[in-house]
Amino acid sequence: MIHILGNIDKWICEYRKCGAKCCTPGIQLTLDDIKRIKGLGYSVEDFLEFDEENQAFRIKGKNGKCFFIGDKLQCTIRENEPVVCRLLPFRVFEVSYADEPIMKLKPVVDCPGEGRGKKINKKKIEADATSFLHEHQKLIRDIKKKGKKEIIQSL
Ligand code: SF4
Repeated sequence: MIHILGNIDKWICEYRKCGAKCCTPGIQLTLDDIKRIKGLGYSVEDFLEFDEENQAFRIKGKNGKCFFIGDKLQCTIRENEPVVCRLLPFRVFEVSYADEPIMKLKPVVDCPGEGRGKKINKKKIEADATSFLHEHQKLIRDIKKKGKKEIIQSL
């Protein structure tokens, strides 16, 4: 179940105004994200790291920002961006894996694009968040069963 907290109606990404503050190192990736990005010709050794504490794959940092940020602060993989980036202007605030997994999303704080631009498609955000939640749950199971090395090799 997805809970979207905060009441934002419209949004546009003003990454130049805020210095692309959402594009931090450590964006969490699903296996599909990794495969898609790898398919663009990137090597996993270059962009991927494993977070042992949270058992999650993440994008490495580069100069304090996401590895995929361009020199004009643009996303260089926009058409293939990770699911987590598609949830903007919301970020994952809390996830709990009880009988039914629950994810809470909260708006980015002090976003200059809030209330401007296109109407937010909450149904799409809910669908992307649900797919992230299920993929991550499956990934945790697979890591327990096979180990992360085997998973990386199978990509
Ligand atoms: S993948 Fe693109 S949108 Fe996502 S954090 Fe990195 S640069 Fe920003």
